[in-house]
Amino acid sequence: MPPEERTSVVTPAACCVIGAGLVGLATAFELASRGHPVTVIDPEPMSGASHHAAGMLAPAAEIQYGQDNLVPLMRASMALYPDLVQRVAAASGCPTGYLTCGTIVVAADGADRRHLRELADFQHAAGMDVEVVTTRYLRQLEPAIAPVVAGAALIPGDHQIDPRVFGAALMCALKKLGVRFEERKATPDDLGPKTVMAAGLGAAEYFPFLPLRPVWGEIMRLDVPDAMTPLVTHVIRGFVEDRPVYVVPRGNGSVVLGATSRENHRKWGSLGGVYQLLRDGIRLVPGLEECSISDIGTGGRPGTPDDLPLVGTDTATGTVISTGYFRHGILLTALAARLGAALVTGDRHVTGLDDRAVESILTHTDPYRWSN
Ligand SMILES: Cc1cc2nc3c(=O)[nH]c(=O)nc-3n(C[C@H](O)[C@H](O)[C@H](O)COP(=O)(O)OP(=O)(O)OC[C@H]3O[C@@H](n4cnc5c(N)ncnc54)[C@H](O)[C@@H]3O)c2cc1C
Repeated sequence: MPPEERTSVVTPAACCVIGAGLVGLATAFELASRGHPVTVIDPEPMSGASHHAAGMLAPAAEIQYGQDNLVPLMRASMALYPDLVQRVAAASGCPTGYLTCGTIVVAADGADRRHLRELADFQHAAGMDVEVVTTRYLRQLEPAIAPVVAGAALIPGDHQIDPRVFGAALMCALKKLGVRFEERKATPDDLGPKTVMAAGLGAAEYFPFLPLRPVWGEIMRLDVPDAMTPLVTHVIRGFVEDRPVYVVPRGNGSVVLGATSRENHRKWGSLGGVYQLLRDGIRLVPGLEECSISDIGTGGRPGTPDDLPLVGTDTATGTVISTGYFRHGILLTALAARLGAALVTGDRHVTGLDDRAVESILTHTDPYRWSN
């Protein structure tokens, strides 16, 4: 139990979490590890975006112009990750899939290199640790990268976690902590002041004012031949004619190749998307051609108009809303879990952040900021 809770004499209240993606599971973990009896409701745990995600924890590589309010959330969550991972490992006894492997951003051609340099300048201005490296040094770091790439930057502090492995560890920890799982869809009767709505895109069914939309992404898991393992040792994020693509190495030697981004109504995988990933991925890491496909999927990112999550309390039911984590929900899970637990218990110390930081985050993530 965290030190700030040890002197509490209040009996922890029973809580309910709707949604067993990484956000819901980690929120349940923050509550259960502080002594709250918790019920988690989900007809199919870990079946949403968290199942598909690559799991890059990339506050520096993912930074984009005009996302000034998102950056502090990404950094705060990154700082909380090692603690969450360590506590989940201790409570579950299971592997967590967390790898502090660093990230390399690679530019395929001259225009991509200009993009990479501008991005690096922006990242430096934001105080992030980014080093533009020569292509000769790049090949020392990652011999499997194509010899013809135009530029690269090393981001030593951006890491990764395998969301499926971490989800399994969280479920194991929750079961050991006595959390009850109900494999069913939530009903309006489940809503209330001790409930956290963490159903990702599914939250809009209960709270139609939430401006959520699916942003689909194709993504694949590949097995690497033994003789070529490890194919790469860093997360490789590339730009190919301005299209993003990434290769994420897992601890077991396999890699993840992702991901497209589309906003049409086709939920099922697009052949064009898969083709694009293979073409751009192989251009940067030619050895991908030798790999075999173990899994291809399409996930729906819970998108919001300003790319910021939707975190706060519903005025009608008192339910805590925690959704809209969009492209960064795996990274934001550590922060989301603490915010959700803090809001449902009314104890802001749970966030581990100072009051001003919490107030600022909750102002920017207010679920009602779009409805007037
Ligand atoms: C292809 C792809 C790649 C990605 N890569 C990354 C990445 O590298 N790094 C990163 O940080 N983020 C990444 N993301 C984004 C990330 O996956 C999401 O932001 C994050 O998983 C959201 O987590 P969540 O728990 O809020 O939602 P979800 O994982 O979608 O979980 C929601 C859960 O709620 C349940 N549910 C839905 N409706 C109901 C209901 N009515 N009752 C009960 N339960 C319900 C669902 O069954 C599901 O299990 C990626 C996403 C995609 C699609």
